[in-house]
Amino acid sequence: MRREADFKAKTINTLQKRAAFICSNPSCKVLTLAPSEVDSHKIISIGVAAHITAAEENGPRFNKDISLENRSSIKNAIFLCSNCASLIDKNGGIDYSTDLLKKWKIDHEKWVRANLNKNISNSTQAVSNINNISNKIITSEYYIENYSGNLPLTSVERKRQHDIGIFSQLNSDLSEEFLKDTLDTISAYDAIMRNRINEVSDFIRKATSKDFDYLNSNLQKYKKEFLTSLDSLKGFVNTHFFFYPEEIYEDGDFQLSLYPALNIDRKGSGDPKDSVKYADYQMKLNEEIRNAWNCYSKYRDAYKNFLREF
Ligand SMILES: [Zn+2]
Repeated sequence: MRREADFKAKTINTLQKRAAFICSNPSCKVLTLAPSEVDSHKIISIGVAAHITAAEENGPRFNKDISLENRSSIKNAIFLCSNCASLIDKNGGIDYSTDLLKKWKIDHEKWVRANLNKNISNSTQAVSNINNISNKIITSEYYIENYSGNLPLTSVERKRQHDIGIFSQLNSDLSEEFLKDTLDTISAYDAIMRNRINEVSDFIRKATSKDFDYLNSNLQKYKKEFLTSLDSLKGFVNTHFFFYPEEIYEDGDFQLSLYPALNIDRKGSGDPKDSVKYADYQMKLNEEIRNAWNCYSKYRDAYKNFLREF
C-alpha cells in the first residue's frame, strides 16, 4: 500500500532520469536499467528512489522537523541501485548520514551533467585496458601451448618461425608502452598524486628506457604473479576509488580525477578516521601500480627467455 510520504511516480521518473539511471553511490555507480532479452516490451530495473530522511517515524535518518510534504519531495530522494538502497538503511542508517547522502546526490548529478554527450567509458579506460592485458596474456599462452605442441618435432626451423610469429603478436599486444600508458592513465587521473609528480615521472622514465637484457626465469610463475598483481590493482581502484570530473573547462571538456571513496572533502578533511585512511589509500595505490609494473617486467623477461630456448 502506498504510504503518504512515498514518492509520486512523477518524482521517481524525474529523479532517475536526473541520475541517468546510474546508482549515486560514488563507489558503486552501476547502471540500473537493461532491456529484457525475452520480452521486447519489458525492462529489467534494479534502481530505487531511496529516502534521504525516512518516510516514517523510526525509519533511518527520520527527522520529525521535516514536513510530510517535504519527506515525499524530490529533495528528499536519492537514486540508488537496490544493493546500495538496502546498504544505507542497515543498522537504522547510522553509517550513512543525511549530509553524506545529500553530498552523494549533488556530486552524482554534477557528474552526470559533466558526462552529457561524453563517452563514459573513457573514464574507466585504464581499468578496462588492464582487463584486456589479462585476456591477451591468456590468449597468447593458449596459442603457444596448443599450436607449438602440434608441430612436428623435427621441424625446428618451423617451430622457431612459429614462435617468432607469436612473439611479434605478443609484442604488439603486450608492449611496455601499452601497459605504461594504462598505468600512467591511472596515475594521471589521480588528483591526489599530483604532489607525487616526481614519482610518476620516475615511473614513466623507467617504463620508456627499459632495456632488453633478460635473465632466465620461470614463465608460469611470473605469469601468475603478473595476473595476480593486475587483479589486485584493478580491485583496489574499483573498491577504493571513483572517477570524478574534477575540472570542467569552458569548451565543455573536462578533466577526470580519481578520488578515494571516503567521507572526506577534496582536500582530505572531514571525518578524521577517513582522513587517516586517505593517506593509506595514496600509499597503497602507489604500491599497487609499482607492483604491477614490476611483475609485468619480470613476466616479459621470462617470456622472451622462454622463446629463446627453442
Ligand atoms: Zn549502488
